[in-house]
Amino acid sequence: MSGYDFDFFVIGAGSGGTRASRIAAAHGAKVGVAEERHLGGTCVNVGCVPKKLFTYAAHFAEDFEDAEGFGWTVGPRRHAWPALIANKNREISRLNGIYERLIAGPGAEIFDSRATFLDNHTLDVGGRRITADKILIAVGGRPFVPDFDGREHVITSDGAFFLPDLPERIVVVGGGYIAVEFAGIFNGLGAQVTQIYRGNPFLRGFDDDVREFLAGEMVKKGVDLRFDADVRRVVRRSGGGFSVDLKDGGTVETDLVMYATGRVPNTGGLGLDAAGVATGRGGAVTVDAGWRTNIDNIYAIGDVTDRIQLTPVAIQEGHALADSLFNPSGKTVGYEFVPSAVFSQPEIGTVGYTEAEARAKFGALDIYRSEFRPMKHTLSGRDERGLMKLVVVRETQRVVGLHVVGPGAGEMTQGFAVAIVMGATKRDFDATIGIHPTAAEELVTMREPIPDPVPLAAE
Ligand code: NDP
Repeated sequence: MSGYDFDFFVIGAGSGGTRASRIAAAHGAKVGVAEERHLGGTCVNVGCVPKKLFTYAAHFAEDFEDAEGFGWTVGPRRHAWPALIANKNREISRLNGIYERLIAGPGAEIFDSRATFLDNHTLDVGGRRITADKILIAVGGRPFVPDFDGREHVITSDGAFFLPDLPERIVVVGGGYIAVEFAGIFNGLGAQVTQIYRGNPFLRGFDDDVREFLAGEMVKKGVDLRFDADVRRVVRRSGGGFSVDLKDGGTVETDLVMYATGRVPNTGGLGLDAAGVATGRGGAVTVDAGWRTNIDNIYAIGDVTDRIQLTPVAIQEGHALADSLFNPSGKTVGYEFVPSAVFSQPEIGTVGYTEAEARAKFGALDIYRSEFRPMKHTLSGRDERGLMKLVVVRETQRVVGLHVVGPGAGEMTQGFAVAIVMGATKRDFDATIGIHPTAAEELVTMREPIPDPVPLAAE
């Protein structure tokens, strides 16, 4: 023992903190974990998990319609939002219990309270003074809403997961992951959705073809996309609902306004100053390659470091950190080819570089791109298309980017990501036999690069 109450104290039992604490405890460290809200953090409680459940719920609307082309007669349909919320809440409670067992199982002690730094080895944990040799900050992030007139009238994704009813008209502001996912969810569940984004098109940072393509598909599904639009103010109407006044003079009448304009590190009230921990842009805790802050015994992982805000990244970081501190194995986290999915409707799967990023980094490229109609829609009659794109470095033939829009894009991309992390070339893709009939076979059967790649938008 180190002479401290704990060898390792973790602040925040989200995805990253939970993994770090249970791995450290399994390596024999005496571990404490403080969580002031629910175990599992953002992902389990107000993020990935309930969002994916909502996405399934929304997709049934199209599934019922599509079934008719296959001979089914589907009767009247009605969606009960309160039932979805109640069932989702039950599942989340079950997961909270699993997280408790995951942490306590290997012997870590859970404190259901806030932890605040008193100095670099001492914390106030719910009024109790606790010392620790090493401390991990894994407090995640929280939604950010910019300042404007009527800000108090809007909700964020945190509130969206607990709405008592689904309003008829919803405005979603933002153009990132959360905004496009919720626009698809609310639209699928029957609300009339307007998505307002300040740029054009949305999903900055994604491949340009993917951005344009998804926008086109969402419009077909009935989402009113307003690009190059910025909110001036939100006014509550005396007869109910809100007016969203835009800077260009337009107005959108709605029953609910949801902001999804990014997330910021959750460091407020943590007492970082008392420990001397330095923060950078937007209050993110600054760390080195080994997740160490400027203070020798204090570490930070996940969203609070504001690098890649993805649960699996935080989990890998937590695991690698716990190993490096208590059972060094040399395990690292690769940040170059991080796959991710946007559970928009239709879905996006992506791994590696966008065409623009790859051109800037590697020079000449071969671009393979294919647009297709998913087989299911030959009978369903639905006017939905898919997109697949490979970004290949011309000189080495290495595939450095893979982008998919369409049903199952996330599942598909997870598998292909292994090959891409391993350095697969286009020849490896060509040598792989397709599975027929699948959509994914398209990725191993694209023969000819586009002669002079022109972004889809320009065609
Ligand atoms: P993102 O950072 O993805 O997007 C934020 C959006 O808000 C951008 O479109 C941004 O515009 C816009 N924005 C920012 N500030 C303002 C402002 N002042 N006024 C108007 N618009 C503004 O954040 P999200 O909230 O969507 O998600 C947070 C993170 O959570 C994501 O980065 C992602 O890593 C993670 N996440 C992952 C998911 C997944 O893996 N499926 C799902 C959900 C979240 P601009 O681009 O012009 O700056």
